[in-house]
Amino acid sequence: MPRRVGLLRMGRLGDLVMTLPAVAWLQGRPDLHCTLITDARWQPLLPEWRTAAVDPGPGPQDAWLDLHRVPASRAALRRLRGASGAPVERVQKEDLRRRSLLFGSAWAPRWTWPERHLLAAERLMRRLGLDPGERPAPLPRLDASTPPQPGLLGLVPGAAHATKRWPLARWVALAQRWRDEGGAVRAFTAPDEAHLLEPLRAVGVEPWPTPLGRLREGLAACAVVVAGDTGPLHVAGALGRPVVALFGPTPPEAGFWIWGANGTALRPALSCAPCSLHGGDRCPRRHHRCLEDLAVETVLSAARALR
Ligand code: SF4
Repeated sequence: MPRRVGLLRMGRLGDLVMTLPAVAWLQGRPDLHCTLITDARWQPLLPEWRTAAVDPGPGPQDAWLDLHRVPASRAALRRLRGASGAPVERVQKEDLRRRSLLFGSAWAPRWTWPERHLLAAERLMRRLGLDPGERPAPLPRLDASTPPQPGLLGLVPGAAHATKRWPLARWVALAQRWRDEGGAVRAFTAPDEAHLLEPLRAVGVEPWPTPLGRLREGLAACAVVVAGDTGPLHVAGALGRPVVALFGPTPPEAGFWIWGANGTALRPALSCAPCSLHGGDRCPRRHHRCLEDLAVETVLSAARALR
């Protein structure tokens, strides 16, 4: 009888993508019956996975794996687990090492995010008396049902935090240049980012519908995707599409830049960068040069090289 395990990961889309190698490993084992418990809003993106919403959750489990490890996930686990006494394993987040990146430390994190999750999955299996076997590759994979269209550039102009956004005028100029060279451009925005679309539409960019169920299909069709440090960047990478990542205030070394073999990370050479692990509402120096200084030509060249 397979052991039932609840895997908990709420939070943002990019964080969820980073859990996929561990979730695929655990869900693929015949001796386990694992359910990924995540925010209801992400479930349409992962129709082939066994998922459950945090509320009401999947019911009693034999063990739990907290791949989020924040106060909210601890509170959710207390409720989901009740008085069952089922064991809990938690991801090791290397908080001190990641934070030290903001202070120029050479005390770098040892693992990427997918590796941290795989290690937690391994500990959980050992705790259940199971042989984990060989650890799989720490690269998220999502099936792409749509083949890439040659010359189609995907743009993700938004980001949850203002300091992670490249100025809109640069996105527009990039789209214009790409179209001048004969390519097509598609833009992906969140439901609350409709204002970003108007200037892009004016230069012939195709806005892609926002429902998450269609995000995979839209990104999979792109020959290359340009995005800030955002969730769609990682969805595109997991679909196997080449990505150009625009890092500003956040450090690629914190564990999210895992697409080195199939992408380019553009990052600022500024003494103030990185200044944040997640981005913020405003630049602490008030100039936001980490992304203001990033030229259209630089991004265009990187995208051209990957298409
Ligand atoms: S310019 Fe420097 S201080 Fe300002 S957001 Fe960017 S990295 Fe942070």
